[in-house]
Amino acid sequence: MTQSVTQSATQAPPMRARAEIDLAALRANVGTIRARAPHAALMAVVKSDAYGHGALPCARAALQAGATWLGTATPQEALALRAGGITEADARVMCWLWTPGDPWGEGIEAGLDLGISGLWALREVTDAARALGRTARIQLKADTGLGRNGCQPGDWPELVAAARAAEEAGHVKVTGLWSHFACADEPGHPSIDLQLTAFREMVAYAQGQGLDPEVRHLANSPATLTLPHAHFDLVRTGIAMYGVSPSPELGTSADLGLRPVMTLAASVALVKEVPAGHGVSYGHHYVTERDTTLGLIPVGYADGIPRNASGRGPVLVGDRWRRARGRIAMDQFVVDLGGETVEAGAEAILFGPGDRGEPTAEDWARAADTIAYEIVTRIGKRIPRVHVNEDPSHDR
Ligand SMILES: *Cc1c(COP(=O)(O)O)cnc(C)c1O
Repeated sequence: MTQSVTQSATQAPPMRARAEIDLAALRANVGTIRARAPHAALMAVVKSDAYGHGALPCARAALQAGATWLGTATPQEALALRAGGITEADARVMCWLWTPGDPWGEGIEAGLDLGISGLWALREVTDAARALGRTARIQLKADTGLGRNGCQPGDWPELVAAARAAEEAGHVKVTGLWSHFACADEPGHPSIDLQLTAFREMVAYAQGQGLDPEVRHLANSPATLTLPHAHFDLVRTGIAMYGVSPSPELGTSADLGLRPVMTLAASVALVKEVPAGHGVSYGHHYVTERDTTLGLIPVGYADGIPRNASGRGPVLVGDRWRRARGRIAMDQFVVDLGGETVEAGAEAILFGPGDRGEPTAEDWARAADTIAYEIVTRIGKRIPRVHVNEDPSHDR
């Protein structure tokens, strides 16, 4: 877990760097998503510490705004939500990335919904349920074409039959049937309809064999925003809830009516004058063309700032975007202030909602040739998360 600082006001104390997490923005995004999927329940996906935003505060804010499910990848992440005080009355919690020997018994006792992608997992969960004398909630995952986790169509009858038998023995209850898209972020991609057809067939087969799931679900953020016929009973949204566009093809977060939740800011650590011809940072990949001023930004790749954005990554210092010049190092990088001076301690905003003219995580994704998911998720443990606007009573 990352260090978390809770504040009521938006004025953060001075720090080397901080990631301010606007929980009012998160709640507003949940409202926007619910309006786009009015007939489906909402699972707030809070895996990987809520994509770097802090799992517990984000989970609570999503529940306040109407999510009724929480989703994580690993069982450890799901158990941490329960340990953090999110009870079964507060939310259903599902996790789907299991490996042999994982804590099935703890998952059953915590009332988790357990994603099951194959026979080995069904055997382990059944054994654990039998040992505890309890019934495990399981959700069978179909691979409808993603080619990653999930059960292949050819293996589905065997998994369904084994799950049905385990239900009749009282060890499990199949609470869900679900799958995941490969290309929902590419509108019109031919795999989308093929996956929908495969999903309907696999669900119909399982129901024909006597399974009676509470929820059938397939949609991630891009599918939630663009494919109403893929919503089924539940949508699982992560990135949109954090106010970040799933892909440039779907538009910016503003185009989608979403507000970025994370603002990453640092204090300028040093400003100095250097002559023309001065090399900057490891490898001297940047050499000053004229006498200039350099500003030192005290965050680097250990903090999740992508090294391959060296030479390009944008930062708002003063009223202007500056670029990371020379290599981004482990703990710091340098911007060329072009002869301007700012005080040490001045605010440098790497990304945020964009209101103050700062770059967005989507701008950093472009600079680093990656996706914005990776930008926010990789922000490191050394950067404190400062959660603001925790109290929903001031929401508009
Ligand atoms: C991460 C994840 C999601 C959420 O995806 P977003 O694109 O961030 O909405 C949904 N379902 C599964 C299985 C996931 O792993």
